[in-house]
Amino acid sequence: MSKPSDPVVAVETFLWSSPRAEAYLGPPGPRDRVDPRGYVVRAGNRTIYPLDDRSLLVRVTTRSGLVGWGETYGLVAAGATAELIRELAAPGVIGRCPHEAETLWEELYDLMRVRGYVGGFWLDALAAIDIALWDLRGKMTSLALHQLLGGARRREVPTYASGLPRSTLDERVALARDLAAKGAKGVKFAGVVSPDAIEVEARALREALGPNVGLMVDLHWMFDRGSASALAQRLEPLGLAFIEAPCATEDIEGWAWVGRQTSIPVAGGEEWRTVHDAAPRLRAGSVSIVQPEMGHTGVTQFVRIARLAEAWHLPVIPHATIGSGVFLTASLQVSTSLANVTGHEHQHSVQEGRGTLWRGACEHDGAAFRIGEGPGLGLEPTEALLATLVPI
Ligand code: MG
Repeated sequence: MSKPSDPVVAVETFLWSSPRAEAYLGPPGPRDRVDPRGYVVRAGNRTIYPLDDRSLLVRVTTRSGLVGWGETYGLVAAGATAELIRELAAPGVIGRCPHEAETLWEELYDLMRVRGYVGGFWLDALAAIDIALWDLRGKMTSLALHQLLGGARRREVPTYASGLPRSTLDERVALARDLAAKGAKGVKFAGVVSPDAIEVEARALREALGPNVGLMVDLHWMFDRGSASALAQRLEPLGLAFIEAPCATEDIEGWAWVGRQTSIPVAGGEEWRTVHDAAPRLRAGSVSIVQPEMGHTGVTQFVRIARLAEAWHLPVIPHATIGSGVFLTASLQVSTSLANVTGHEHQHSVQEGRGTLWRGACEHDGAAFRIGEGPGLGLEPTEALLATLVPI
């Protein structure tokens, strides 16, 4: 290993948070509750969210003063991820060259794998650092992230609108209509918060949107294989583009079984951290559409998952979630460089009404994101963003 000319000298973590007008996935229903720590616990949903938006940001600085930004999930117990970065990851990165990003990911992964840390907070910590190192690689070479990965195949990434956070079916249908009118090529609703039966909502949305707007449903890991396939068969006449996460994430065979029972493609992958999560699921035929989440994978594993999907001739439609914009930008930059990315999720409720947090962020016109041109991620934090960050 040669001595790096511009080694990492500091790794810092910050909590970003921002109030929301209404809870993610919509107002809590009568069977839902808000726990004493402010997390919305929804009946039937196999995950929780806070009432505000949050993420964990990482700032990596080199000796020459170059700064790379990374981000991961900070929705729950962000202090756990921050502590893992401070105690275990940062000492492995300080003194090393950002161009070693992939090697560093593997070295850090090796520190904890036999202790069972092959997912969760530890892999989120690695994702944040990995994104920051790739950002630095771009800044050190004056190349955009997509150029480091072989070049952009397209400048725009088409999107579908995700989520209809309204209380009643009429309000949800009206929002879907509005999103389609603004250009959304597809609309995905969350079955776990459907005020009526999932097929009732799907039928109402199909009637409102007409045949030319994509319609999808996220099932949030809710069903056993029999219930999921029966539901999928009832939805078939409505021409859904995909059903997402039909069964528990551990039920690899169940997902594959559902896929064999229905003509609707099965999509999934937002909870995967590594190519080792993807491999057995692709081998089993669990998914027809792969949805990696940059905030969990970092650039290094996102690319490995997408290229494995390419080898299986599967399209990739990356996941998008709550964040300040760093992992979203990384996801979009990488998406432009990959052959099999056909679209991207757009979390309209996270971004709308919020001023610009990052200069150079990808612009969205209702139908697609257009990527920027700057080196690395091409992002610079605004003063307004920096003023809200809390060291953690
Ligand atoms: Mg989902």
